[in-house]
Amino acid sequence: MIFCQTIKELNQHLETFKGETVGFVPTMGAFHDGHLDLIKRAKKKSQKVVVSIFVNPTQFTNNKDFEMYPRTIEEDIKKLKFSSVDILFCPSVQEIYNSSISIESILKKEAISLPTLFSEGEGAFRPGHFEGVYMVLYRLFSIIRPNIVFFGEKDFQQTLLVKHLIKTTFRKIFLEVVPTVRLESGLAYSSRNTHLSSVGLKKSKVLFQSLQSIKSAFMNGEKKTISLIQKAEGVLKQELLVEKIEYIEIRDPQSFALKKEVEIGDIVLISVFFEGVRLIDNFVIGK
Ligand code: AMP
Repeated sequence: MIFCQTIKELNQHLETFKGETVGFVPTMGAFHDGHLDLIKRAKKKSQKVVVSIFVNPTQFTNNKDFEMYPRTIEEDIKKLKFSSVDILFCPSVQEIYNSSISIESILKKEAISLPTLFSEGEGAFRPGHFEGVYMVLYRLFSIIRPNIVFFGEKDFQQTLLVKHLIKTTFRKIFLEVVPTVRLESGLAYSSRNTHLSSVGLKKSKVLFQSLQSIKSAFMNGEKKTISLIQKAEGVLKQELLVEKIEYIEIRDPQSFALKKEVEIGDIVLISVFFEGVRLIDNFVIGK
C-alpha cells in the first residue's frame, strides 16, 4: 500500500493506474467494520482502490466536535494491511483547500437549487454540514478522478448529495451505495461509538429496536407517519441513556420529501443523543 499526503505524490501514482478501474472510498478514519466493508466492496468492483482519510473541518458544525473526532491513523494503517488497498491518501487541510477552484461559488448555486438536501434532515441540526461535505467531495473527486465511488447507506442523505454531485459535475463516476454494517445488537458501526461506555454500548441496542418497532407497526397495517414515529419514541423513552431524540422522520428516498402516509421503500431516519453521543441511523421500510 502506498501512503501519500500530497496531491503531487498522489498524481504520480495515479498515472500508473491508467486504463484500470479506480475505486475510491472517502473516509474520516477511525476505521471500523463498516469502513472495512466499503473497502472490500471497492476491491471486488475495481482494479485499483484509493482510500482517503481526511477529517474535514468544513463539515463540522462546531470546533469542539471537530477536535474531539477520533484520530487513529496508526491503527487505521494496521487495519488496512491485509485489505489490498493500493493508495491511502491522507492530505492536510491546506492540501485540500488551497485550490484555484472557487468551490464557494458552485456551492452558492447548489444551495439554491438544493434547499431540501442542504437544510433539511441532518442539515437542519447541523447547519453548514452538507455544504462542507459537498466542498470536500468536489475537491476529492477532482483530485482522484475515480471511476466508482463507495458510500455507506448509513449516511443516507449524504448518498443523495453524492448522486447530485455526480449528476451535475462528475457524470462519468458510478456510485455504489453499501448497506449499513451493524454490531450484533443492531447498532450501526460508527467512529463515534468509541465515545460510548461498555454499558452504553450494550444499551444502545434501543436505537435499532425503535426502528424495528416502526417496521413491525407498518407490517401490522399502520401507515400514518405520526403514529409510527410515536411507536419509536415510546421505545426510546424507556431507556434512560437516551438524553434527547433529535429527530425521527420518514421521507421519500428519491425526493427526500417528508411523508405523511408511509409506503414500502420510504426511509426512516433517526438521530438521538445517547450517553452524550450523537447517533444517527436509518432503514428502508419493507427491506
Ligand atoms: P466516515 O469516516 O464516518 O466519514 O465514513 C466513511 C464512509 O463509511 C461513509 O460513506 C459512511 O457512510 C460509511 N460508513 C460509516 N458507517 C458505516 C456502517 N456502519 N456501515 C457501512 N458504511 C458505513
